[in-house]
Amino acid sequence: MNIRIIRHAVLAVAVVLTVQASGQDVLAAQAPMDRQMAKIDSVVLDRLLKIEDYEYPAQDLYPEWSNEYAHKYTNVVIPDSLLIDLTGFCMPTENTKITDIFGYRPRRRRMHYGLDVKVQRGDTIRAAFDGKVRYVSYQRRGYGNYVVIRHPNGLETLYAHLTKKMVDENEVVKAGDPIGLGGNTGRSTGTHLHFETRLLGKALNPALFFDFPNQDVTGDTYLYTKPKKKVYDPSDPDTYYKVRSGDSLGRIAARKGTTVKNLCKLNGITTKTILRPGQVLRLY
Ligand SMILES: [Zn+2]
Repeated sequence: MNIRIIRHAVLAVAVVLTVQASGQDVLAAQAPMDRQMAKIDSVVLDRLLKIEDYEYPAQDLYPEWSNEYAHKYTNVVIPDSLLIDLTGFCMPTENTKITDIFGYRPRRRRMHYGLDVKVQRGDTIRAAFDGKVRYVSYQRRGYGNYVVIRHPNGLETLYAHLTKKMVDENEVVKAGDPIGLGGNTGRSTGTHLHFETRLLGKALNPALFFDFPNQDVTGDTYLYTKPKKKVYDPSDPDTYYKVRSGDSLGRIAARKGTTVKNLCKLNGITTKTILRPGQVLRLY
C-alpha cells in the first residue's frame, strides 16, 4: 500500500467536496467543510501513517527494507541532524550493570560498537521500541545469535550473544516484547547482552539514548547531529599520527579506527612502505 497515493486520494476527495459545497453560498459552506475534511483527512492519515510505520519503519530515512545484511554503509546518506523520538521505549534488560562501554578498545585494537550489559543466561531480552525485525542470524565468531530491529524513530537496535532467538525476520514487535534470551553465544566471555544502536548503519553510543543503571532513556528525544568531517590539521594531533618503533600500518589503522587502505591513500604510500619512527601519517 503506497501512502503517498492514499494521501493524494484523500486530498482529491476533499477538493471535490469543497468544490461541490461552494456552489451557492461559498463563504458559508466552505469554511466548515474545510474544517471537517481537514479533521477526517488527518485522522485517516494518522492511521495510515501508523500502519506504514509498522510495515516500513522509518521509510523516509532508509532507502530499502532488506533481510540480507546486518548493517550497510553504502548508498546511505546520514542526515545532518535528526530528532530521535525516545518515548515509548522499554529497557532491553532490567539488568543495570554495564560491563563494557562503547568505543575503541586499545587492548584488543578494535572498536566496540555497542554497550555490554551483564545478564544471566535465560534472562528475557526485550525490544527497545516498537518496530519490525529486519535481521536474525548467527555468527559463531562474532555476535552469536543476534537480532536487528528497525524502529519508526530511525534507529536500529541490535541484541547479541543470545542463547535463544524468539522472533523472526519481518515480524512486527512492540516495545517490551521478548525477542530472545540472554546468553553467551559467539565471541563472548561471560553471559552478557551486547546492545547496539545504529542510525542508517552507523553505530552510535547506546548510552546517548539508554541509561541502563537508571533504567531510563536520556530524554523524550535525542537530537542527533552529524559530526563535522575532520580534516588534516598539523595543529590538531587528532588528525595525524606519529609513527613509533614497532608500529605497522595495520596496527595504526586499528588503533586509530581507520583502514590500511585509507592510510595508504592519504599518505601516498603502499603496504610495502617501511615506516620510520617519528614519521607523521595523516589520518584525515
Ligand atoms: Zn559487546
